[in-house]
Amino acid sequence: MSFTVHGLPVSQGIAIGHAHLVSHALLEVNHYKIAPRHLEAELERFDNAVSSVGDELLGLKTATATAQSHNEVGAFIDLQRMMLEDPVLIDAARNKIKEHHYNAEWALVQQMESVVDQFRQIEDPYLRERKADIVQVAERLVKVLLGDPGPLPSKRRDGLGTVIVAHDLSPADTIGFKDHIAGFITDIGGLTSHTAIVARNLGIPAVVGLRHIRHLLRANELIIVDGTRGIAIIDPDESVVEEYLLRRSALELERSKLKRLRDTPAATLGGEVIELLANISGPQDMAQIKETNADGVGLLRTEFLFVNRDALPDEDEQYEIYRSILKAASGKPVSARTFDIGSDKTLAGSAQDEPNPALGLRAVRYSLAEPKIFLTQLRALLRASAHGKLQIMVPMLAHADEIEQTLLLIGKAKEELREEKIKFNEKLLVGGMVEVPAAALALGMFVRRLNFLSIGTNDLIQYTLAVDRGNEAVVRLYDPLHPAVMKLISTTIQTSQRAGLPISICGEMAGSPAYTLLLLGMGLRSFSMHPARILEIKKQILRADLAEITPKVQRILKLDEPARIREAVEKLTG
Ligand code: PEP
Ligand code: MG
Repeated sequence: MSFTVHGLPVSQGIAIGHAHLVSHALLEVNHYKIAPRHLEAELERFDNAVSSVGDELLGLKTATATAQSHNEVGAFIDLQRMMLEDPVLIDAARNKIKEHHYNAEWALVQQMESVVDQFRQIEDPYLRERKADIVQVAERLVKVLLGDPGPLPSKRRDGLGTVIVAHDLSPADTIGFKDHIAGFITDIGGLTSHTAIVARNLGIPAVVGLRHIRHLLRANELIIVDGTRGIAIIDPDESVVEEYLLRRSALELERSKLKRLRDTPAATLGGEVIELLANISGPQDMAQIKETNADGVGLLRTEFLFVNRDALPDEDEQYEIYRSILKAASGKPVSARTFDIGSDKTLAGSAQDEPNPALGLRAVRYSLAEPKIFLTQLRALLRASAHGKLQIMVPMLAHADEIEQTLLLIGKAKEELREEKIKFNEKLLVGGMVEVPAAALALGMFVRRLNFLSIGTNDLIQYTLAVDRGNEAVVRLYDPLHPAVMKLISTTIQTSQRAGLPISICGEMAGSPAYTLLLLGMGLRSFSMHPARILEIKKQILRADLAEITPKVQRILKLDEPARIREAVEKLTG
């Protein structure tokens, strides 16, 4: 019987295929005691499993480093490799074998549960994600101990793919499966879960948070995954499969047509040229800038270069990374955001103990509280500025003195470099991110002190609506079309333009075609987004008639009834 389940749409596209159920190894563990004479052999079995999983992860890391990949993926694998060396998990499990004579699987699962219990007491969302990593590493180890290296479905002959159905998947599993997989569906996970990020990077349709899907399905059952709407259709009727096959071909055709837009200038019907920039998290993303011919980098999330490490790299290492990005940018502008550390992006090993981390020591607040770290980054950025069109962008500004202190530190870094006779761009531009409502409402104090602005809608929405952007429970309330959010975006664009300051948007809204015409109508002329979205947004721009859209959007901005706003925006986009 056919039925449909709803989850979170985390990676767009359509997959049609047969279910491949990934076993939940942790639930299949037997408990027994080892006879003293077999203890040595059991310990050896355990050690071999640890080193075999280590080799497996290293192999995956090498495979993804050579394939076109993204550094978040490599960083997740590194993190799991680190866990394999963590005494709290590994040595303690080993001791359970030695002292209590538990079998290896039992010892491991017991220790994992005790570590996970400790993690449960912690509110910090970044650490909650780490809990999932521990479970995934343990699951991998148990699979090896059970003699199951993990299922590797082969290519099917009926032209349909394989859909991986799991309780949860580790990024390593996701990568391991990628070659012959049509889609992923999982019981748990949020929009920012690792599986979601990796699936998006690999371009594989995925729906997560389907609760009990793993238990509702039988192996080989036919499934349609609609990663755009966030649904999975189990055992669909023939007519539904036909419909989705057509939709899938239309999407594929659309994608190949989009590629032809690479060299078309992004201009509206009236000839106004719009700037299309890319959001990146490291040098490895620069290839996509070339593929899509982006106008530059509107947001380099520098903290992603380093969040999975115990300590930040020194000035020279940072300088080399920034310089390599500028080299790959070949003269195009690169806006490097200073570390947005804190909240969901803590440094490995520095658990933050704040009751409300999103409202705590995050981004510029963290940087100013750690002037040594900040100065090191500023010096590295300034040194790199001698090699290209680098600009510095400061996140999460709310107070004038935050920008004043930052400018003072930039001045100090410049002074030091001058004394050391090290070259940098004396005229380097400094901009700020508008992502706190206070900054949008009192923009004058930033306009007077900065050279450019960029609206971080992801946080602006979170802070305006008091909705945690990473919490699935309140995802319904996270609304870019809320009249308060739209008013803040539109005033920010207008105030900035009146003052002659360049302004861009680098939040997810800039990369969603549903909002392109709305933002153009608000006056926005520069968009920064994941490189994979650039050509789709360009397509929207090519059909935009600013003379027609602008008055319509001004009327939408006067509305404050959500249903009418939604209807008007949908009509605008057509
Ligand atoms: C934003 O908040 O919109 C933004 C671009 O920054 P991040 O998503 O990294 O917080
Ligand atoms: Mg932000």
